[in-house]
Amino acid sequence: MYINTHFQQLPNNYLFKEISYRVESFQQTHPDADILRLGVGDVTLPLPKPIVDAMHCAVEELAHPETFRGYGPEEGYAWLRQLIIANDYRPRGVELDLEEVFISEGAGSDLGNLSELFESNNRVAILDPSYPAYVDSSIMAGREIVFLPCHAGNGFVPELPHESVDIIYLCFPNNPTGAVLTRSQLKLWVDYARAHHSIIIFDAAYEAFIEDEDIPHSIYEIDGAKEVAIEVHSYSKSSGFTAVRCGYTVVPKQTGLQAMWMRRQCTKYNGTAYVAQRAAAATYTHPGKASIQSNLSHYKGTALLLSNSLREMGYEVYGGKNAPYIWCRVPKEYNSWSFFDHLLNDCHIVCTPGAGFGPSGEGYVRFSAFSDRCDCEKALDRMKNVG
Ligand SMILES: *Cc1c(COP(=O)(O)O)cnc(C)c1O
Repeated sequence: MYINTHFQQLPNNYLFKEISYRVESFQQTHPDADILRLGVGDVTLPLPKPIVDAMHCAVEELAHPETFRGYGPEEGYAWLRQLIIANDYRPRGVELDLEEVFISEGAGSDLGNLSELFESNNRVAILDPSYPAYVDSSIMAGREIVFLPCHAGNGFVPELPHESVDIIYLCFPNNPTGAVLTRSQLKLWVDYARAHHSIIIFDAAYEAFIEDEDIPHSIYEIDGAKEVAIEVHSYSKSSGFTAVRCGYTVVPKQTGLQAMWMRRQCTKYNGTAYVAQRAAAATYTHPGKASIQSNLSHYKGTALLLSNSLREMGYEVYGGKNAPYIWCRVPKEYNSWSFFDHLLNDCHIVCTPGAGFGPSGEGYVRFSAFSDRCDCEKALDRMKNVG
């Protein structure tokens, strides 16, 4: 037996493990400290009632012989895929075939699994900083990685790669920087991919947070993108589905990869839970949409509160608009982790050190709009008092 030695190349301290280790150690030595968590990358509001009702109904169907269902289609039920096309694409002028939409258990697994479609000698371009999954899954697959630095100097929008790359992971609105791309900025990437025969894996997990008109919700709003882009969606952040587990991936036929992905799914994936798919369908009903918009407004309000207040305190703040993350430059005398420790020790606040998202994240911390509103208000007061 020969293990996949690429796993040994993985950074051995997973960011969120290190954070919880430091927070738990602090809590143990300071049992009375009221620790405020402003780093959470997970939603916090409960599932809206229309979604929960749909899930109850689905469970009830499974409980009776007349309505019981077994395995569903590997690619997901057609009724959900139709709703996706009609609600998430057609209003934006994007037409998709039913066979191009694949229901998943969330974006996380597909973002890694999609790389099975490509030989291991492909060169991968990944934004730095970025969500750890792209880097880690590329390392596991033994691929060469080209990092695309995102910093204040380029407005956290990376320059096109100087060397030729084959697979490009893009995530906009971005986690962790909160940066967004305009149509013309995204077009540069589509044109690059067309010119270099690359494939873009576009992570649209935060699409629901977009408010500005000139920011595309889907990469397919850009001409020619269907030839070069796979788009990965998740109901996790838009609809509070981090525990429910449902998302979808669009693999257009023009990429030449749709049949391969179908084959891959039929072999390795037996479909998304029926109850989760019914929950996803309920997000497209009138009451579903209304309650989701109300949750999103709450998070957007928290993002605004955090970014405005931090800015008033004199911090250099990015993101927080069209995105739930606030990317904050740490004061000169600190680095990411020492500022994290300072906030934890002196204010009992937890943020996310930017360095954990890649070398260009050094010097920044991430605050999250998924944090409890009262906790944010308390935390901002504490930061003001500590100075
Ligand atoms: C949270 C998040 C996802 C969603 O993952 P799921 O597996 O669908 O819960 C995808 N991409 C990014 C960048 C995220 O932050």
